[in-house]
Amino acid sequence: MPTQFPHAMPRMLTVLGLSAVLVMGNLPASTAASTPAGITTAVQVQANKKTVTKVKTTANLNMRTGAGTGHKVVLTIRKGKTLSVSATASNGWYKVGYSGKTGWVSNKYVTVVASSTPKKTVTKKPAPKNATKTVTLWVKATSTVNVRKGSSTSNAVVTKLAKGKTAKATSQAANGWYRVTVGGKTGWVSNTYVTTCSKGCEVDTGKYTSNRAGLTDRYFTRSNGADIYASVGGQRRISDIPKNSIVYRDAKWEKDAGQVSGWYFVRTQGISGWMKSSDLKRSSNAGTKNTKGYTRAQVLKQKNGQISSSMLVAIPWDTEKTLIAAPALADLTRLNTAFKKKFGKNLDIDLAYRTLDTQKYYYRDLGPFIAAKPGTSNHGWGLAIDVPETYDYSFRGKYYKWLKANAHKYNWVHRAYLEEYRANGTRNPYAEAWHFEYVGK
Ligand SMILES: [Zn+2]
Repeated sequence: MPTQFPHAMPRMLTVLGLSAVLVMGNLPASTAASTPAGITTAVQVQANKKTVTKVKTTANLNMRTGAGTGHKVVLTIRKGKTLSVSATASNGWYKVGYSGKTGWVSNKYVTVVASSTPKKTVTKKPAPKNATKTVTLWVKATSTVNVRKGSSTSNAVVTKLAKGKTAKATSQAANGWYRVTVGGKTGWVSNTYVTTCSKGCEVDTGKYTSNRAGLTDRYFTRSNGADIYASVGGQRRISDIPKNSIVYRDAKWEKDAGQVSGWYFVRTQGISGWMKSSDLKRSSNAGTKNTKGYTRAQVLKQKNGQISSSMLVAIPWDTEKTLIAAPALADLTRLNTAFKKKFGKNLDIDLAYRTLDTQKYYYRDLGPFIAAKPGTSNHGWGLAIDVPETYDYSFRGKYYKWLKANAHKYNWVHRAYLEEYRANGTRNPYAEAWHFEYVGK
């Protein structure tokens, strides 16, 4: 069943996600493979949007000669560096200066530190004190900030937006404050303590930052419903992870937090938390065939996000052995064969099945504007895949264009409501190039 927001995961929500090469840590194979030399892409510098003036790197990041991963690397910028931005490309990349050189960096591995509004958007006469304008953006708290009844510090505090959390803003007051909804409560936050993003801010920092970032110590869950907890000892359960799901152990985190025998701190599909080491194993033994002959209709009769592990199979060519509903695999394999014939490489998979509790976790964590309503995503039946958010898979990329034109021949479709532009020509804020649904038998 399609939903307006099929993705309940932060990393899925990047605007036209474009790949940056994380020089440290493990890379999704797709990222490395999707950077053929010599590709020149038509990327225009934007003129009339809110101008980003400073960004900070969230990972070691390549500066390139152009705004895309097809361009040559000039140098690598260390994580945590603040950079002045001189231009923003239409694909979101920033032109920055660093160490005496100028070049372009992906917007996926930086956070916006400062921005300014171009003069032309300034109104001619001063706005009345209580004037507000409608906005469609998200704010992310740079420190825990009060949400107040009105747009000034004299108003009562309704709730708080915790540091690092995001909320959708629907209007902005003349003094810059944003009207937001946090945990069902609506109020105003000062613009001094938030940064803004055109989509879920969480994801603008890159799709693997909350999950695989730099991690290589891979495990798979041993049994169905292996639990992941907020703390060692299991006082607070975050979610369950289906059998044969990949997780990455974060030893550095464990060391900082204080290692406890029998417990690993792991990151998986945007969730991180503690798991019992006894719930983990080194390899997947998931099936790779629909041996029981399940149909899509049978899968859809299961509770979303709670389908039986016997209905899930691993995508054989995927190094992470991503799980998908068994009936969808044969057509996906046909699609992959055609893709491989065309491009000489396998179709890259970022995510397919997601459990209900994981959907709930994101819904709680990110709120209804960003996360899908739990139990409605077709990922919850393993009947959708996400390809990576790299350039070639983006709306202007060759893989996307080919998939859009051909995937339906193999019963995989990209929905019209996820397209970059709406029928009336306006940009679709919920556009997703990477989400494909299975519609076969
Ligand atoms: Zn998706």
